Amino acid sequence: MFCAINPDLDHLQDGQFDFHFSAKDNLTTVGLPTRAGSRILEGYRPAFDAHAVEAMRQAGGLLLGKTNMDEFGFGTFSTNSAFGVPRNPFDLDRSCGGSSGGAACATAVLDGHVALGVSTGGSISCPAAFCGVMGLTPTYGRVSRHGLLDYGNSLDKVGLISRRAADLEMHLRNIAGPDPRDPTSCAQPPMGKSAPVRSIAVPKDALEGVSDEVSRSFQDALDRLRDDLGLKVETVETPSFRFAMPSYYVLGCSEASTNLARYCGLRYGVQSEEITEHFDKYFSRIRSENFGREAKRRILLGTFARMVGFRDRYYMKALQVRELIIQEYQRVFQDHDLLLTPAMPFTAPRFDAIDDMDILEVYKADYLTIPPNISGMPHLSMPCGYAQGMPVGMQFVANHWQEGLLFDIAQRWEEAFRLRAPEVTA
Ligand code: GLN
Repeated sequence: MFCAINPDLDHLQDGQFDFHFSAKDNLTTVGLPTRAGSRILEGYRPAFDAHAVEAMRQAGGLLLGKTNMDEFGFGTFSTNSAFGVPRNPFDLDRSCGGSSGGAACATAVLDGHVALGVSTGGSISCPAAFCGVMGLTPTYGRVSRHGLLDYGNSLDKVGLISRRAADLEMHLRNIAGPDPRDPTSCAQPPMGKSAPVRSIAVPKDALEGVSDEVSRSFQDALDRLRDDLGLKVETVETPSFRFAMPSYYVLGCSEASTNLARYCGLRYGVQSEEITEHFDKYFSRIRSENFGREAKRRILLGTFARMVGFRDRYYMKALQVRELIIQEYQRVFQDHDLLLTPAMPFTAPRFDAIDDMDILEVYKADYLTIPPNISGMPHLSMPCGYAQGMPVGMQFVANHWQEGLLFDIAQRWEEAFRLRAPEVTA
C-alpha cells in the first residue's frame, strides 16, 4: 500500500504526534519521494509540502508514508502504478480500487489512520467502496491543490479517507480554506454545521448495470435509511447523468495531456547524464521509455480532443455537458438534501477479471462516481453492506459547499451500521 515510508519513523518517540496520516503519492512531501505512480518521476524530491500535507503536519499529524496509486491518477484499480499493485485487505486476489488504492488500503488496515487522497473522477469513492472505508471528496475548490501533481486541474480535489466519520470532519477542517497559492480555493463559504439530513433522492436508473449483490446491499441500506434513520427516500429522474462519463474522459484527458507535457527529462525526475541527440528526440525517448501505457493513451486522446477542428466537437461539448449536470443536481437539491447511488457497480474485482476487461469496460466502471466529480459536488462513499465477504459502498452527493450534510449522514449511518475490519493487518 505504501510506495515510500517515512525514513524517520524509527527515531520518533511515543506521544510526539496526535495522529498518523499518509499522503497519496501525487502530493508533494519534503523528505520523501513524490512519483505519482510514474517511473518518469523517479528521483524527484520535492522542496516543499503540498498544502494538505503541510496542514496535516501542523495539526499534529505524523506522515507515515506515501500511498501507491495509478500513474498520475489514470485508473480504477491501482494496477497502473510503476511501483507494484496494492492488494485488497479483504481478499488479496482482488483490487483495492483506484486510483487512491494504497490510501484506502492503509485506512482499512491501520487503526485510527487517516489518508489524504485525491479524486478527479472517482478516485476516492471507488477505493473507499472496495476497501470498506469512508471516502470524502470535498467541493471542488474547498481544499487547495497547491503541491498536487495535476491530472485535470478543473476536476482534481484533495480529500480524505478514514474509518471514522468524526475524523473526516475534523481533518477536512484542518485542510480546507482559502490559499492564495491555488486561486480556485479562494472564494469559498465557511464550513458551518448543517441542519440534519431529512430527505434523499435516488435516481430512477441508479441500479441499472449494477451487479445483483451490490443492488441487494443498496436496497437493504435504503430500507434502513428509511426505517431506522427516519429519512424520506424518493426517486428522481437524472437523464443527463449518462453523458457524464464520455464528457469526463474528454475533459480529463485534454487537461492531462497538457499537464504531462512538463515531464520530459528536463526539470523533474528521470534525466540522462549526457544528452547527445537533438532535444526533440531526447524528450520523446524519455517519455516513451518512462510513461506507462495508460498515460500514453490519455496523452493521445487528450491531444486529439484539443486539436483545431475537433475542439468544438469534443472539448466544448463536454464543457456544456458539465453545465447540464450541475443544473440537474441543483434541480434535485431544491427538494432533497442529498442524492444517493451505489458507489461502484460491483465489488472489488479479482485481478484476473481485471486482466480480461477491455478499456471501455474499465472507463464505464466509473459511471456512478463521475457525475459528482465532473460537477464539483462534494460526495461521500461509505460501506452499506457486505457481499460474499467483500464490502459494498454507497455514495451520497450534496450541493456545492454542503459538506455539513455529508458529515451528518456519515455520523448517523456510522451509529446504525457495523463496519467490519479486514482480518489482514499491517
Ligand atoms: N478512474 C478514473 C480515471 O481513470 C478516475 C480516476 C481519478 O479520479 N483519478 O480517470
